[in-house]
Order: sequence, then structure tokens, then C-alpha cells
Amino acid sequence: MRIFFAGQWQDRDQKIEVRNPYDATIVDTVPQATASDADAAIAGAVQGAAVMRKLSGYERFQILRKAADAMFARQKELGRIISLEEGKTIGEGTFEASRAAETMELSAEEAKRLGGELLPLDGAPGAAGKLGFTLRVPCGVVVAITPFNFPLNLVCHKVGPALAAGNAVIVKPASDTPLSALKLVEILLEAGVPPLAISCLTGSGGELGKALCRDERVRKISFTGSVEVGKQICEVAGLKRVTMELGSNSPLIVLPDADLNKAADAVIATGFANAGQVCISAQRVVALDKVYGDLIDVLKPRVEGITVGNPLHEGTKMGPMIRERDAVRVGQWVDEAVEQGAKLVCGGSRTGTMYKPTLVADVKPTMKISRDELFGPAVGVSKAASLDEAIQFANQSRYGLSAGLFTQDIDSAMRFAREVDSGNLHINWGPMWRADLMPYGGLKESGFGKEGPKYAVQEMTEMKTVVIHSKP
Ligand code: NAP
Repeated sequence: MRIFFAGQWQDRDQKIEVRNPYDATIVDTVPQATASDADAAIAGAVQGAAVMRKLSGYERFQILRKAADAMFARQKELGRIISLEEGKTIGEGTFEASRAAETMELSAEEAKRLGGELLPLDGAPGAAGKLGFTLRVPCGVVVAITPFNFPLNLVCHKVGPALAAGNAVIVKPASDTPLSALKLVEILLEAGVPPLAISCLTGSGGELGKALCRDERVRKISFTGSVEVGKQICEVAGLKRVTMELGSNSPLIVLPDADLNKAADAVIATGFANAGQVCISAQRVVALDKVYGDLIDVLKPRVEGITVGNPLHEGTKMGPMIRERDAVRVGQWVDEAVEQGAKLVCGGSRTGTMYKPTLVADVKPTMKISRDELFGPAVGVSKAASLDEAIQFANQSRYGLSAGLFTQDIDSAMRFAREVDSGNLHINWGPMWRADLMPYGGLKESGFGKEGPKYAVQEMTEMKTVVIHSKP
């Protein structure tokens, strides 16, 4: 595929090969854009922002509504592209495509709702007769940098609100999975997005990402990815608005009054989806000692029953990891935990990019598999003596994106909601659940700022205060 910027589809001699993570076959190639392309893209986007600013909310709604309709109609095709470049199962890819269409639909709706607030200024001393109100205006040029694991929906979570708010947007997708983002640009152009208002550049995050993030013509950066890259972006961004959606090692606490079958189903659904490569995957299961052994007993056959294979085959429940080096890393972390006293319940082996669904028991919070973001298909189970200890364990992390708790007791549930430091909290489900309309974002090193079109539009607009000084 080609890249799109400065209002045109363009090619470059240098290419990036996009490979299917399952069998390493080349799916397609994309141009390797450079820092000078980033410069040209920003110049185009500055003009695009001026065009967007003049469109009415209703016109922006109509364009995004049309794009959402096209995405719903092309769900199967988009799902296949996602599955081919990312390695998730075809079921997961098609589901992501449908969520992406919904995200675009929600963004379209938000284009109609950019309201302000009437300010009761005559309540201030000496301000009798004055009238004040707020106006929301677009930021101008938005840069959207996205990770590999949801190559379409996470792009839509930035592009949809950016356009709804009246900005121009430049997307820099992950180099492993750029095809879904480029396909989205085709759809947006067909739906009527002004060509200068949308760009998508593929190329090295180090070169291109840096050039985009440090440029002073850019007013807003919306980044989803790792903490390490997030910190690099914040260092070069300077005086810009920034949203950071970063990693996690999400906990799931199981209390003795939990429905253990439901809890085990939640561990499978939220720990192994997309081969554990989800920012809110259940990574650290903490069970109270009364149910610890029973939980492992109900989990083991479920983990062993996850069918691994070609993501395009309908029966496959889990596909490969994105790169072999990540599968190797997961294996090393599991082995290290076992060397330090953890117990391998099942899994623990690898063939190329395929790491077997793995369950590890007796995990201690000091082990790497618990302490850092694993981002792979292994779940560790740890024992706690009380709810206090379980909450302490959950908070023993530099991250705070999502957490889950299983209990029937409302007081325990409320303590969990109040005391666990996390942006998202799920009672009687695992940490991996998201409706695209809800506010979503992390605490601590999981980042700052919220996504979900309604909230992202706030982050991608600026507030002006207007005062009319009429005679009292
Ligand atoms: P990543 O390595 O941080 O890369 C993310 C994006 O940043 C890619 O497009 C990458 O480009 C680009 N990039 C790399 N270096 C850069 C730099 N110096 N300046 C600007 N951009 C740069 O993350 P990933 O491996 O793709 O994704 C996994 C991570 O994303 C995990 O930590 C996961 O938890 C997190 N994540 C968070 C959320 C959330 O909502 N909080 C959602 C999904 C994923 P290249 O691909 O060219 O290197």
C-alpha cells in the first residue's frame, strides 16, 4: 500500500515488509517515510486544519457517519486485514472491525455535541450585566501514534474524535501493523474527509514519531503504546497537549465467596485474548487462600483447552504473538519465575511466535512475571491471606490501568473500587472489558487523559471564555 499525506497518495523506494506473524509470509509492503515526509505532512495538515475548522458540526457528523456505514459494510474485509497483519484470530479481527465502526459512529455523534457553558458572571463583584460563555475550538493539528495490538480500533479512537472536533490528524501506526490504518484512510477519503485533513505515514517510530512529536505546528499528541516510548514522546513534545494511554500488568482478585466457574471463565477471556497482548489483560490473579487451590483446579483444564493455531481457521481460539522475540521473552520470564520458586501448572513451551497458553502458580509480587508488563499468553496466580493483602498486592505496581474483583459482598466490592489505584475497575469480571463509549484511561505509569469519543473530543479541543461587557 502507499502512504497518504499533503493531500496525495505517495510512494517511497524504501519499504517496510508487513509479515503475517503466524507464518512470516509477506502480506504487503508499505513505504518507509522519513522525517522530511513528516515535515511535509505537517505543512499539509496545517492547511487541512483551516479547512476543518470551517466545516459545521453537522457536516463533520455527515462525513464520519458515512465512514462508519462503510466500515460496518466492510467489516469482514477489515477483520481479515487485522487478523493477517496482527495475528489475532479471525473472530477477534472481525470483532475489532465492528468495534472500530462503532467508535467512528460514536465520534460522528460527538461532532454534533460540542457545546459550551453559560457563566453566571453577575455573581462576581462589579460584574453586573456582563454575560459570559465558553466556546470549544479545535486544537488544530493532532498527531496520533498507535500500537500494534488493535491496529484499527485504536486508530479510530484517535482519528474519529480528532475529526469530530474539527482538527486535521496525522496517524503514525505501528510498523508491524500499518495496513488497517491505511485502509481506514481510504474509507475516510471516500466518505468526504478533506484530503489535507488526514494523513497516514508509515516508518520508524524513532525517526518519524520523533519528528512529528517535537514539531511546534502540532498542538496535540495522542499516544497509545509502551511506557518507555511514552516517556520519550513527553521529553520531546515541549508545550503541547498530550494524552498517554500506556501499559499495565492488570490484577484480578478472587475472594472466597466468588463464583469460581465464572471467575475461571473471566481469567480465560481476559487473560488470553489476542495471545495476552492487550493492555488490560489479566496478568496477576490474586486468590484468597481458602479458594486458591480450587481456582487453580478449575483453571487448568480451561487453559489447556485453548486451541492454538492458524488465526484464519474458524476453530482457533488463540493465534501467535506479534514477533518471535516477544514469544522468547515471555518464555524467559516464565522460566525465571519457576527458577525463583513459582510452579508451572501448564503450558510453558514455544514454537516460533506461538507461545502455549500458560498458567503459573505461587507467583510472588517480586518476580518479573508479576512486576512488569508481560504482554503475552501467561497468567500468574498468587495467594493472599485477606482482602487487605490482596488490595496491597494489586497496588504493588507502577501501573494502574484496569483491575477486576470477584465477590458477592458489596462492602468488599466498594473497598476494591475505592482503594485499588486503577483507571478502570470491574466487579465480577476480569480487567479486560471496554465499551467504546466509556471514559477509558490509566493512573500512575499507565498514563493520563481519557479516550472514548466523548472524552477524547474534550482532550482534542480547547476552551475559550467569552465575556460580553454590556451595560448593566
Ligand atoms: P510501542 O513499542 O510503544 O509502539 C507504539 C507506537 O509508538 C508505534 O507506532 C511505534 O512505532 C511508535 N514509536 C516508537 N518509538 C517512538 C518514538 N521515539 N517517538 C514516537 N513514536 C514512537 O508499543 P507496541 O509494542 O506497539 O504496543 C504495545 C504497548 O502498547 C504495550 O505496552 C501496551 O500495554 C500498550 N497499549 C496500551 C493501550 C491503552 O489503551 N492504554 C492500548 C493498547 C496498547 P514503530 O512501530 O515504528 O516502532
